[in-house]
Formats: sequence, structure tokens, C-alpha cells
Amino acid sequence: MAIDIKALANQGVNGLHPYQPGKPVEELERELGISNIVKLASNENPLGLSPKAQGAIAAATAELARYPDANGFYLKQKLSSYCNVNADQITLGNGSNEVLEILFRTFISGDDEVIFDKHAFIVYALLTQSIGATAVAVPSVEWGHDLDGMLAAITPKTRMICIANPNNPTGTYLSPQRLAEFLAKVPENIIVVLDEAYFEYVPQSERADSVAWLQQYPNLAISRTFSKAFGLAGLRVGYLLSSPELADLLNRVREPFNCNMLALAAAEAVLDDTDYVNRAVALNKTEMARLMSWCDSQNIAYIPSHGNFLTIEIAEAQAVYEALLHQGVIVRPIGGYGMPNHLRISIGLVAENDRFMNALHHVLSSKK
Ligand SMILES: *Cc1c(COP(=O)(O)O)cnc(C)c1O
Repeated sequence: MAIDIKALANQGVNGLHPYQPGKPVEELERELGISNIVKLASNENPLGLSPKAQGAIAAATAELARYPDANGFYLKQKLSSYCNVNADQITLGNGSNEVLEILFRTFISGDDEVIFDKHAFIVYALLTQSIGATAVAVPSVEWGHDLDGMLAAITPKTRMICIANPNNPTGTYLSPQRLAEFLAKVPENIIVVLDEAYFEYVPQSERADSVAWLQQYPNLAISRTFSKAFGLAGLRVGYLLSSPELADLLNRVREPFNCNMLALAAAEAVLDDTDYVNRAVALNKTEMARLMSWCDSQNIAYIPSHGNFLTIEIAEAQAVYEALLHQGVIVRPIGGYGMPNHLRISIGLVAENDRFMNALHHVLSSKK
């Protein structure tokens, strides 16, 4: 009898479903034989690569036969002034997804419980289950995190609480004050992860000074990314801010060269490209407003968003998603997030958003 490999896998892995990424443009081209496709499915920066990052990548290719700097010295220098932390408080990763994974591998094992929102970024659930730990999904309130519910879910087995702020796929946002009150109530033996992937899209006046909380809470870890406002999704680079003690633990667990040379060079360069980031944030703001008022005019409900995407309420969302594909528009169905009657639309360029609105209008009117 052939051996059952599945039976050998770690507990939890057999019940896992792979992460469902947004459909790549090339795949839709292959499947439907159409071109001129618009992808609004993965919250990428629609401006494309920053010219400064492009120059830095071109220059760095000459060194690719060498290993990258395992400590990311120069990127950490730049990040330490951008984030107002010391370099020894920074952990770099192959996307923020990887720093989250390192964090889980460092702190979570067998019997532990990890608390997150029922409609939170799905990676928390994937990591928890792949380790064989127990996920505790707390129901949302108006699609947002129920911080009191999360506190109430704490047991002696709780080892971590993950909070995405703003959250993906709902776009909901917790005020600095509510978060501060929450942090003060969490027992200090529980790691609190604050996932700030959309940090740059939150207006300065509404941002939490979350980095200041690191002084007070050695159990706090803040993850951020270059994949969204900085436009480097394809290179995979993210980082985690924490106490030096926590960073030291992660540094033992991580793979030595987990941030590649091109990613390091591009991330350093894009931190200097404030014009690029400002343009991305400004475009997002005006186009978000335009998309919301269009939804209002069409009587389409949506969840007000603090990110670079808008999640709208649509009956039979999966069928609408597929009909949109035939119009050459890729959005994101989020049934896997327990939201089968919603679609998430990334805010694109003006012409891309126009394509989406026209396509959705077409799909909905032909359904009637
Ligand atoms: C996009 C996203 C990330 C991270 O993506 P990386 O590309 O791995 O940096 C992390 N958290 C949330 C909530 C996101 O939406």
C-alpha cells in the first residue's frame, strides 16, 4: 500500500485551504482570450512602480550574484527615521506576510489560542491553523473589530491577538483612543499584533502614534508593508516594529536572507519618493469619493473604507464577479472571508475605475 502522505502532515494542515489570491491578468487573458483587462483585485498601487525604485532596481542588478545584506542595514536606517524607531526595533521580511509568519513561529505552538476578528485579513487564520493552534474568531460589530468581544475571548491559553487597522477586506478603522484603551486592558503575556498595511492611506490627523505605544508595551508588534502605498507588491518587502527584545527573538527564527537585494534597494529608494506616495494617496482619496458617490447613485451599499479599496454589498456576489470577468474587470470575491454577498474593489486609476463602474452597471442591468 502506498503511504498516505496526508496522514503524516502536521495537524491542521489537512484542513487548510490555500490562500486565494486575486486573479492575475495573464490568467484571465488565457482563459477568456480577451485583452485590455483591468485588475482591481489585490489592493496594489495603480500608479505602477515608482521611478526612483525603478532606478534603484536597475542599479542593484549588477550585484545580484552576491547574497543580499542579511541585516538590511541601509533599509533599517531609512526606516528608523521614517518610523521614528531605533534600527534594532525593526524586523524585515519577504512581505509583511512573512514577518507575521516569523512572529507566529516564534510565539505560537500546539495548544495556544489566537484571537482575531471573524472578517479579518485571512492570513492570521491560515498561520494559526498551519501551526495547529486554535483560532478564536470574534464576531464583528458593523463589520469592524469588536475590541470588547476580543477582551472577553481571552483565556489562559490566549497567546496572541491580531488586529488589522484598517482591516482588509472590510476597510474598517479603530480610533487611536479605542486602541489605546484596549492595549491597556490586554494582559502583558499576550502578543498584540497591529497590522498597519494601509498606514499611509490613513490621514495624518487620524493616525494612531502606534510606535509610541512600543515604549509602554513590550508585547506589541506593528507590521507594515511596501506592497500597498509604496507600490512594491511584486518584490515582497514588509517590516515589523517592536521592542528590541522581541525583534531579537524574531531575528533568531527568520531565514538569514529573507529580504532580497532588489527589494532592499527598491524599498530604500521609494522611501525617498514622497512625491510618488503622496500622488498615490491623493488619487486614492478622490477616486474613493467618486466610487462611493457612484454607489450612492446606484443604490449600492458599501462599507466606508479607510484603505485603498471599497467593499460593496451585492447579491449573488460570486456570479457578479464572474460576469465582471467577462467584461475584462477583475475584482475580489470575499466569500472565503465569510462575506458571500460582498465584493472588494481596489481603487484604481480614473480610467480603470470608470471601466469597473460601467461593467458593473452593465452586469446589474442585464440581470434585471
Ligand atoms: C496586503 C496586506 C498585508 C500584506 O501584504 P504583504 O504584501 O505580504 O506585505 C498585510 N496585512 C493586510 C491587512 C493586508 O491587506
